Amino acid sequence: MPHQVNQLRNSLFQQGVRLIAVSKYSSDREVEQMIADGQLDFGESRPQQLRDRAQQWPQCHWHMLGPLQKNKAKYIAAYAHTWHSLCDLALAAEVAKQVRNRRLPVLIQLNISAEAQKQGVTPDELEPFYAQLCQFKQLHVVGLMGMAAKGSDPRSSFQLLSQCRSKLSTVLPELSMGMSSDWKIAIEEGATMVRLGRALFDANPLSDH
Ligand SMILES: *Cc1c(COP(=O)(O)O)cnc(C)c1O
Repeated sequence: MPHQVNQLRNSLFQQGVRLIAVSKYSSDREVEQMIADGQLDFGESRPQQLRDRAQQWPQCHWHMLGPLQKNKAKYIAAYAHTWHSLCDLALAAEVAKQVRNRRLPVLIQLNISAEAQKQGVTPDELEPFYAQLCQFKQLHVVGLMGMAAKGSDPRSSFQLLSQCRSKLSTVLPELSMGMSSDWKIAIEEGATMVRLGRALFDANPLSDH
């Protein structure tokens, strides 16, 4: 598996796409193997695990994915390389307040699946939300992130995300979209980062968890 990861990462890199290995369900040993194979970017959804692994492997980039509770903001401020799931101004303020000596790259999470329970700002809210974020000098908005709805056509969701980026008055370089089941389509639609968990790690990731 590690050598396949190496190949995949290189071929994506040549297409201008960064491979984020989502290690949220993976053991330290699996992470170590990937690092040995040259993997630099990892995604985590639990702030404490992100902190622990960032302390253990400070040479890697630890990307925060998924919902964040206010009392965990400090871990993201201190240890996240990039925060992919920003969709709440109060949380943005909390994280920004605790960032020291750098600007934290963030992506705005958009709800592109039209599912009410999904996280993210709606396409209509994007421009005002972006404008509000500009008050936080410690945060650097670099792009948009979205997830296709399960069981629906991912291509139309990714096209929507891409269109939302084009419509913004500011040019944002990054589009974080595509997971194990739909990353090839995401790249066709302009992804600059794909976030792969199950496709890279164990075929049965939850079993040893
Ligand atoms: C878990 C997770 C992934 C990886 O999902 P896989 O289907 O295992 O590739 C990607 N993005 C986010 C936001 C996640 O929470």
